[in-house]
Amino acid sequence: MLVDTHCHIESDNYNDKDDVIKRAFNNNVKILIINGYDKKSNKEAIETANKYENIYATIGYHPSEADKIAIDDLKLLEEQLMMNKVIGIGEIGLDYYWTNENKDIQKELFIKQILLANKYNKNIIVHSRDAIEDTYEILKKYKKESVKGILHNYSSSLEMAEKFIKLGMLFGIGGVVTFKNNKIIEVIKKISMEYIVLETDSPYLTPDPYRGKKNEPFYLNLIANKLAETKAKDVNEVCEITSRNAVTLFDLNYKI
Ligand SMILES: [Zn+2]
Repeated sequence: MLVDTHCHIESDNYNDKDDVIKRAFNNNVKILIINGYDKKSNKEAIETANKYENIYATIGYHPSEADKIAIDDLKLLEEQLMMNKVIGIGEIGLDYYWTNENKDIQKELFIKQILLANKYNKNIIVHSRDAIEDTYEILKKYKKESVKGILHNYSSSLEMAEKFIKLGMLFGIGGVVTFKNNKIIEVIKKISMEYIVLETDSPYLTPDPYRGKKNEPFYLNLIANKLAETKAKDVNEVCEITSRNAVTLFDLNYKI
């Protein structure tokens, strides 16, 4: 079995959403965690999770939303957090790749959502692009110890990874590991399996040999294969460990 800890399965991305879900469930992927990132996708993630037993939602406001989010939007998020099947806050974080002109606003939004995670004991799913130092400093300062989470599409150094492990963070590994000449594979080799979960980030970051096409959760099998090769482990073991890590992190009711 596999758990896709990070995907964006919504009608804006797929006009055959239910088929995409079915294809995943028929191909070894047993649990999907759909990550919202704005008001619309948060709402749809919750609706989809309510429709399927093995789909869960995390909700939050992505850093690209930072300039738009008002107090009322955070109140709405807080109300939605109480809903059944909402297991965490994310995708939240910092992204200085697209713009670093609103760093302070991004940081403020990130911190406010971490404080909500603290208040409601929810784990977090964190996006960090060109902002790893600030991401670390904020998590270290504001996240309470019992709140854990995933650094999605981890792409930084081993040294930083070790610091994040001390904060209770796991690493989301996705399609990038299958790309030619990717730099993260050498880091992953040295990270213990107990800190790794798998993700597709569908519809983005499609693994090789389908790079360029639209990603979907059933391609998670290709990522598991690549990780098994990288770690010189049996693929079934990789599936089992990464799934157990995800199920344990979110305390999901699923026997592995
Ligand atoms: Zn994402």
